[in-house]
Amino acid sequence: MALAAMLLLVTLVSFALIDRFESNPFTSLLGKQNRVYLPVIVKGRTGGASGGGQAALYITIPGEPEAFSSPYTHYTLTQGLHGYSYGHAAIDISAGNGAAILSPINGIVSSLYVDDLANTVLIIENEVYQVLMMHGNYSVNVGDILTLGQPIGTESNNGWTKDAFGQLCYGRDCGYHTHLNVCDKRLGSNINPLDVIKN
Ligand SMILES: [Zn+2]
Repeated sequence: MALAAMLLLVTLVSFALIDRFESNPFTSLLGKQNRVYLPVIVKGRTGGASGGGQAALYITIPGEPEAFSSPYTHYTLTQGLHGYSYGHAAIDISAGNGAAILSPINGIVSSLYVDDLANTVLIIENEVYQVLMMHGNYSVNVGDILTLGQPIGTESNNGWTKDAFGQLCYGRDCGYHTHLNVCDKRLGSNINPLDVIKN
């Protein structure tokens, strides 16, 4: 029920941002504009046995889709590539508890949620990249269109974070970092975030 309500909210928020409707989702990959395709299941829209339908929303995002920068002005790499077991090729970087986190791309907030491990999860995407970040206190909302470098929250230790001795930091003052995973939609796979943050 909560998911249905969230999807409805996404739909409503997105509706205000619609550039146009199209039936072919691959058209967006051919255009030169930074346009992201967000498939949205609309419950009860088309009727029938399942009562569900699918709407294709195209949203135009200002700025270069290829541009990428670090989510921090300065950071320490605290863990190299990891997370393959759950589909990531992520790194952990830290600038300290409360440090400003910046949008690494020109993109739209497509997901913001807390997962089963209490990780706060933020996903920003555009036509080229899908960026997933975890553990922060995020101050943006689903549907927000972000400019590269825009503040989007602060570093924290929400969820599955550990101290230097491998002990979980739930309820403790440790483990502050950002888990960063980057998917390159042109390749259809995750890439090493260190290859694109460059600083
Ligand atoms: Zn991590």
